[in-house]
Order: sequence, then structure tokens, then C-alpha cells
Amino acid sequence: MKIINDIATMRQELKAVRNCKKIVFVPTMGNLHDGHLSLVKMADECGDYVVMSIFVNPLQFGPNEDFSTYPRTLENDLKKLQLLDVDIVFTPSTQEMYVDKENASQVTVPIISNELCGFFRPGFFTGIATVVTKLFNIVQPHTAIFGEKDFQQVHIIRQLVRDLDFDIEIKTAPIVRDGDGLAMSSRNQYLTADERAIAPGLYQCLQIAAHEIMSGQKNFAQLEERAKNNLHKMFRPDYLTIRNRRNLQPPSQFDKELIILGAAWLGKARLIDNVSVDL
Ligand code: AMP
Repeated sequence: MKIINDIATMRQELKAVRNCKKIVFVPTMGNLHDGHLSLVKMADECGDYVVMSIFVNPLQFGPNEDFSTYPRTLENDLKKLQLLDVDIVFTPSTQEMYVDKENASQVTVPIISNELCGFFRPGFFTGIATVVTKLFNIVQPHTAIFGEKDFQQVHIIRQLVRDLDFDIEIKTAPIVRDGDGLAMSSRNQYLTADERAIAPGLYQCLQIAAHEIMSGQKNFAQLEERAKNNLHKMFRPDYLTIRNRRNLQPPSQFDKELIILGAAWLGKARLIDNVSVDL
């Protein structure tokens, strides 16, 4: 497993590989847990050369967000990756990725980037689209893998790939959860013991709404309201919404593929989760 932190060496290493091996790329911000590792396992299965990036991207954090405190555990992350089949871990510095961050070009996927998480975190998805574009250009993988936990992110990246003609296949991996249902996340560490005990409540609220839809409830506005009230008892919700899973728009009565998405604060942690519903 090679650890590379500059773009020139990445290009050098990957030039020859690209012609004879299928490169699969897994971008992350590190502090690896089983959710991240499931993406690596999927990468191993669908390709023969695995590249992971570990980069805490300053561009996707708002001025009052947790960029400076985001858990950085590179040594431990590398130990976990040694046990898997990873060929390159790309660990660039901020300076390597953004020579002049304030004046750098940025990539924005319009409209959807300002909705849901983007409404509550202005600039977040532009930060993500920009860093993913840069990483795609550096690695030029055949396939890239993202987690369904960040469902809106995957939706935006698929549009980015389509709009900008990246010749990259996007694959997704299911959400990995702790035993009590809480979706694994680096930010779960911000929870106190008491908060951790109630954190699975977000998934439970989404599941209750999913069951109501599956048992025939079609008044989505009413259902959202009830679910939000439930969530409000334990969390400070940003949103809880039912959408068409294909386009992330509010669903019609006839839509069969739905998704319930939620984001809520618990103490210092902002948790997100989603549950799919197939009718
Ligand atoms: P992050 O390091 O949080 O930016 O996440 C890197 C990648 O891991 C993204 O594609 C995430 O969607 C994915 N990921 C994070 N948490 C999970 C999880 N619990 N299950 C599956 N994938 C995840």
C-alpha cells in the first residue's frame, strides 16, 4: 500500500496502471469506520486497483462548522487499510489541493445544491462538487464508490458526472449501521453517552414513516409533519422529508420509489440518515 501526498506522484503512479487495470476510487475524509471500509471492500470486488483519498476538505465546511475539530486519525486509518486490499492512499495537504483557496475555481451543481442539507449548509455541496472534480481529475478512476448514507451527495455527484462528461462509473454502497441502528459516522464521536443512547431515534422516526407509507398512507405532508413532531421530542431537526428517490423532488401519489431523508442535531453532532421505500 503506497501512501502518496502530492498530485504529481499520483499522476505518475496511475499513468501506467490505468491501461491495464480497473481503478476504483473511494474518496473519504478519514477517521475510518466500518462504513468506509465497506466501500473499500466493494471497490476490491468490482476492480483490481483501489485508490482511497483521505482529505478533510476545508471548502465544504461553513465558517462556524467543525473543520478545525473534525477527527483526524491518519495513523489509525492506515492501520485499518493495511488489513484490506488498498493500493494507494492519497493524503494531500490543504496547500497541495488549494494553492490559493480563496480565489480558486469552484464547481456548482445548481438548484439541488441549495436544497435539503444544502439549504442548511450554504456552500457545502459546492465544496464537495469542487473537491470531487479535482480528485476525479487527479485519480481518473474507472469507477468511484460513494455511500448511500449521504444520499443527496451521491445524487449531486451523479449529476456532476453527467453534466461535465466524466468517464467514470458511480457506484453506491448501502448504509452501515451500529447494532442499535445508528448510521455510522465520524461525527457520532461528538455525542455524549446520554446523546448516543437516543441517537438511534433518528433512524426510528424514519422507519416509522416508512412503515406508514408502506401500509397505504398517501398524505405525505401530514406524514412528514407527524414524523417531524416525533423527531422534535429528542432532536433539533433541520429537516425530515419524503422525496421521489430518482429526482429528489416532492413525490406524486403515483411514485413507487421513495426516500425519507432526515437531518437533525443532537448536542454538537449533526446526524443525517435516510430510509428507502419501494411501493
Ligand atoms: P466521509 O469520510 O464522511 O466524507 O465519507 C466518505 C464516504 O463514506 C462517503 O461516500 C460516505 O457516504 C461514506 N460513508 C460514510 N458513512 C457511511 C456509512 N455509515 N455507511 C456507508 N457509507 C458511509
